[in-house]
Amino acid sequence: EKQFSKRAQALQPSATLAVSKKAKEMAAAGEDVINLGMGEPDFETPKPIAAAAVAAIQSGQTSFYTPVGGTLSLRKGIAQLAERLTGQELSAKQVTVTTGAKMALYALSQILVNPGDLVVAAKPYWVSYAEQVGLAGGRFEALGDDRFGKLTVAALNALDEKPKVILLNNPTNPSGVLYSKAELQAILDWAEAADCFLIVDEIYGRLVYNGAHFTSVLSLAQLNNRKLIVVDGVSKSYSMTGWRIGWALADEQIIAELNKVLGHMTSNPTAVAQAAAEAAVTGDQQMVESIRQVFEKRLNTTYAAIQELPGLTVSDKPEGAFYFFIKIEDELLKRLHLNSSADFAKVLLEEEKVALPAGEGFGKPGYLRLSYAKDQAAINEALKRIKRFITKD
Ligand code: PLP
Repeated sequence: EKQFSKRAQALQPSATLAVSKKAKEMAAAGEDVINLGMGEPDFETPKPIAAAAVAAIQSGQTSFYTPVGGTLSLRKGIAQLAERLTGQELSAKQVTVTTGAKMALYALSQILVNPGDLVVAAKPYWVSYAEQVGLAGGRFEALGDDRFGKLTVAALNALDEKPKVILLNNPTNPSGVLYSKAELQAILDWAEAADCFLIVDEIYGRLVYNGAHFTSVLSLAQLNNRKLIVVDGVSKSYSMTGWRIGWALADEQIIAELNKVLGHMTSNPTAVAQAAAEAAVTGDQQMVESIRQVFEKRLNTTYAAIQELPGLTVSDKPEGAFYFFIKIEDELLKRLHLNSSADFAKVLLEEEKVALPAGEGFGKPGYLRLSYAKDQAAINEALKRIKRFITKD
C-alpha cells in the first residue's frame, strides 16, 4: 500500500480542474462537449508577446536559471506598470515573479501560515485558497453568507479569534463582485488594527465592466513596512494562462522570505515565459482593453440570457472577473430529482455535455459557476442545452 502523507490525503482535487478533465476526456472521445468550466481567456496570446518569447529562445535565454524572483528587467516592468495603474512607486525589490499567481499564493501560505493558524476569506472563494492553507497546516474559514459574497468588517468583527491572514479577491472569482474603495479601506484598516497579514488577489483587477471602477489596494496603502501583499499576473488580463507567470508585490522583507521558499520549489519561473510577460507589461496596454471589451459584451448578453432560465438565478449582475455564480433554486433540484449542485453538474455533463463546476468546490453548495471566457456562440449553445435540461419532463 502506498502511504501518502496525511497532507496529501487531506487535499481535495481542484473542482474546476476535475470537471474540465472529464470534459476534455469526453471531447477527446469525440463527444460534442462545451466546457464553460475553466478560467482561461479564449484569445490568442497577442502577437508582440509571442514574438518576444520566440526572440528569447532564439537568443539563447534558455540555458541558465534566472534570479529566483524573476529577471530584474521583468520585475522593473511590473513595478512600473503597477505605478502607472495605481500611483504607488515600487522598487524591483518589492516584486517577486512566480509560476503563475497560484504559486505566489502557495508560497505565501508557506511563509505565513503555521499549523493551526487561522486564515479567512469570503464565501464563496476560489478553490485553491482553502487547499493551499490546508497544505500549510492552517485552518481556513470562509466568512459570511450574504447575498453579495463579500468579505465585510462585520464578519471579521464576529470572529472569536483574530486571523493570521485575510485573503481578499477583488474582483472575486466566482461571484464577480467588486469591492468599493470604502469597503476596501475598511478591511485594510481592520487588518492593520488587528495586525494581521492582508493578501489582496487582484488577478481580475483590470477586467471590470459597465463603468464599474476597480480600486487597487496599492492606491490606498504603501507596501513598505506593512503586512500587505498584492498578488497579480498575466494569465487573465493578457490571455496568457499557459505561460504561467504571476507575481507578488510586498515589503522587501516579505519578498525576501518568499524568494527563500521559491528557491527550493521552482528556482525561477521559465525564462522564456518571463520574456513574454515582460513584453506584456511593458508593451501597449490596449490589448488588455480589447480583451475587457469583449468580456463586457459577453457579460451583458449572457446575463440577459440567464434571466430566461427558470429556476436558475444570478441575483446581482457581476461587475468583474468573467464568471456567473448561478443559484439553482431548490424547487428545480427537486423537480429534476437531483440532490445537490454537484449532482446537477454531473448529470448536466452526462446528458447535455455542458461542463460547469458546482458550488461545492467554492464553499457554497447550491450554485454553478459559468465562465464566459468562451466565444458567445459556444455560450449560447450551452445555455440552450441547459434550458433543455431544466425544462425536460
Ligand atoms: N487567483 C484567482 C482568484 C484565480 O481565479 C486564479 C486562476 O484561476 C488565480 C489566482 C491563478 O492564476 P494564475 O496562476 O494563472 O496566475
